[in-house]
Amino acid sequence: MKRTNKKLSLTPEQEVNKENPISWVKYTKNSCATCAATCCTMPIEVRWEDLVELNLVSDDDLSLPLKSIINRLKKEKVISTYRSETSLFALKMTADGKCRYLKNNKCSVYKNRPLVCREFPLRMGWRHGYCPKTPIK
Ligand code: SF4
Repeated sequence: MKRTNKKLSLTPEQEVNKENPISWVKYTKNSCATCAATCCTMPIEVRWEDLVELNLVSDDDLSLPLKSIINRLKKEKVISTYRSETSLFALKMTADGKCRYLKNNKCSVYKNRPLVCREFPLRMGWRHGYCPKTPIK
């Protein structure tokens, strides 16, 4: 059977698919200005320190069992899961699949945004230097 590799031969005219990093476009410092904030519709995993920055937990909470904090954050619909292998919390997305902090296509917690948001896409993300930029409609 002949093997094809369509994913590796995308042309610039083909649509960016956030699930497929091969289709992502090169990131530039102006990319975000005309983007529909697609990266803010992708899974967002954050550290304990990020939750502190976002005022979702306090350092005092460190004295409590982690399980009780996880349960509280889930009950408050702040996180969807916690991964013990990486010690990362997945932020719960809105019903329409966006980050809870995305308001009018802008980050409403920009100064306190999680590390993954600060480092994406140059140092964090599935394809460093590339992003799932899609134009604002
Ligand atoms: S915290 Fe801000 S930058 Fe990070 S995903 Fe949410 S809206 Fe986007």
